[in-house]
Amino acid sequence: MNIEIDLHTHTLANPHAYSTMYENLMEAKAKGLKGIAVTDHGPDMEDSPHFWHFNCIRGIPKQAYGLKILKGIEANIINKDGKIDARPPFINKLDFVIVSYHPPVYNPKTPEELEEAYLNALDNPYVKIIGHLDRGPFEIDYEKVILKAKEKNVAVELNKHSLSLSADYRGRVIKIAQICNRLKVPVTIDSDAHFCSEVGNVGIVFDLLEEINFDKTLILNTDINKTFKFLNIQED
Ligand SMILES: [Zn+2]
Ligand SMILES: [Zn+2]
Repeated sequence: MNIEIDLHTHTLANPHAYSTMYENLMEAKAKGLKGIAVTDHGPDMEDSPHFWHFNCIRGIPKQAYGLKILKGIEANIINKDGKIDARPPFINKLDFVIVSYHPPVYNPKTPEELEEAYLNALDNPYVKIIGHLDRGPFEIDYEKVILKAKEKNVAVELNKHSLSLSADYRGRVIKIAQICNRLKVPVTIDSDAHFCSEVGNVGIVFDLLEEINFDKTLILNTDINKTFKFLNIQED
């Protein structure tokens, strides 16, 4: 089993990623994917593209080299009110928004504060996926956040990059996956690639889901049509 579309990838538009979009596309094609989403970091992160990157993002075609392309952003939560750095005038030019917590942009003092930030961010109608919920300075009440995601029809991402980062994050990813499984919440499995060879490279997430008997029907992006339907993407 593999994904048909990688919904979380970065390009050179973030200086801390190291491949072009073309290289990412070629890698996705070589791995047999049917699509890819480009989701560079929101403009409030120091190491992020200028807002024109997002404002002009419709210059990227919907398809190229036989692959479908979605234009997204990995937006940063910027405060406990759940404000994010995907905003007008460009937010409505994107196909979807991933919302993530990144410490250089926002530093909550307590688990409760971070929980509140996630809960409030989920009220933003453009948010469709919570990125790497496992990462953060402390564990939070994942169930509370995941229940709200369910209510708002937002998917929870199981991020391959988290598994490579630390055993701590791995433990949290397992907890999060188990909660999604129990509450029947849709998930995406993404590479969060910062280099082209990582695109679509999510086998270790599937291995982990196998170990915990995860219900595979909850995975959105093993089927590109199911993914587009969930994200409400209109195809020409
Ligand atoms: Zn991230
Ligand atoms: Zn990322």
